[in-house]
Amino acid sequence: MSATLIKGTEIREEILEEITAEVAGIKEKHGVVPGLVTILVGESPASISYVTLKIKTAHRVGFNEVQDNQSPDISEEDLLALIDKYNNDESIHGILVQLPLPKHIDEKKILNAIDPDKDVDGFHPVNVGRLMIGGDEVKFPPCTPAGIQEMIIRAGVETSGAEVVVVGRSNIVGKPIANMMLQKGDGANSTVTVVHTRTKDLEGHCKRADILIVAAGVPGLVKPEWIKPGACVIDVGVNRVGEKPSKKDPSRMVAVLKGDVDFDAAKEIAGSITPVPGGVGPMTITMLMKNTLKSLKFKLGIN
Ligand code: NAP
Repeated sequence: MSATLIKGTEIREEILEEITAEVAGIKEKHGVVPGLVTILVGESPASISYVTLKIKTAHRVGFNEVQDNQSPDISEEDLLALIDKYNNDESIHGILVQLPLPKHIDEKKILNAIDPDKDVDGFHPVNVGRLMIGGDEVKFPPCTPAGIQEMIIRAGVETSGAEVVVVGRSNIVGKPIANMMLQKGDGANSTVTVVHTRTKDLEGHCKRADILIVAAGVPGLVKPEWIKPGACVIDVGVNRVGEKPSKKDPSRMVAVLKGDVDFDAAKEIAGSITPVPGGVGPMTITMLMKNTLKSLKFKLGIN
C-alpha cells in the first residue's frame, strides 16, 4: 500500500493564508504590520536566490520587508553597528542575517549581537536555551524543525508516546527537533532517540521508529527495510545528485534533488512520508514568517 504524502507545498499554502489573514486583522486593529529586515552581505547567487524567496513570501503575507544589501567589504564593526540600529528600530520585529558571511567577519559574533527578541531564525543562544526549557519559555523555534513539527501535527500523526528516531545531530535540525519532540505539549510528548555517525546499530534504531526524522545529508542512507510498516517518515535531506534540463526552459540545467530516504521503495512501507523536493523544504521560510508574526504579537501582548 502506498503511504500518504505529506506535502510541504500544500501545508505552506495553508499556513501562509492563515498568516496573511492574521496580519490583516492586526493591521486593522493595531495599525501595525510585522517588519522583517534581511541583511545580505555580498552577492553570492545562492544567497541572493534564497533572500529573494524570503522577500517574495514576506510581501505576500503583508509584512513590511526591508532589504539591506551590504558590500562584501563591510567591516565587522560596521555590520555590528547595523544590527544595533535594527535592534533599536521599533518598526522591525525580525532580523535576518543571510549566511554565509565573508571570511573576515565572525559569524557567531554577528548572530549573537541580534536582540534575542528579534532573532526569528531562533539560533541565538538565548533562544536555544528557551527551546530547551520548553513550554511558555519558547519564543522562536528554529524554522526547519518548527516546520517538521507542524507537518507532523497537520498530517494528524500521533506523537504522544510515539518512538521518534532522529537521524543527525546538527544544531539547526537534529538537536532542536529532538528537543522539541520530547517536550510536554501538543505535537510532542514523544520518546526520542538521536542517532549519528558513531551510533552502533543505525538500522535497529530506525526500525523501532513510529516517526523517523532523517537529516543526515546522505542520499538514500535510510533503506526501505529499515522502516517500520506504517511509520511516519520525514525526510529532511536535500542532496544534489545530478542535473537535468529545466521543464520551463529546456536550455537551462537544474539540479536533480534526492532525499536521505529511498523514497520510491519507502512509500510502499511507510504510513506517511514527505517527498523531496516539495516536502520539508517549503516549510522553512513559511515558519520564518510565522516567527516574525509571533514577534510582533509578543510585542503587542496578544499571544
Ligand atoms: P549536518 O550539519 O551535516 O549534520 C548531519 C548529521 O547527520 C550529523 O549529525 C551526522 O553525524 C549525521 N550523519 C551523517 N552521515 C551519517 C550516517 N552515515 N549515519 C548516521 N548519521 C549520519 O547537516 P544538517 O545541516 O543537519 O542538514 C542535513 C540535511 O538536511 C542536508 O541534506 C541539508 O541539505 C538538509 N536540510 C534541509 C533543510 C530544508 O529543507 N529546509 C534545512 C536544513 C537542512 P555526526 O554528527 O556524527 O557527524
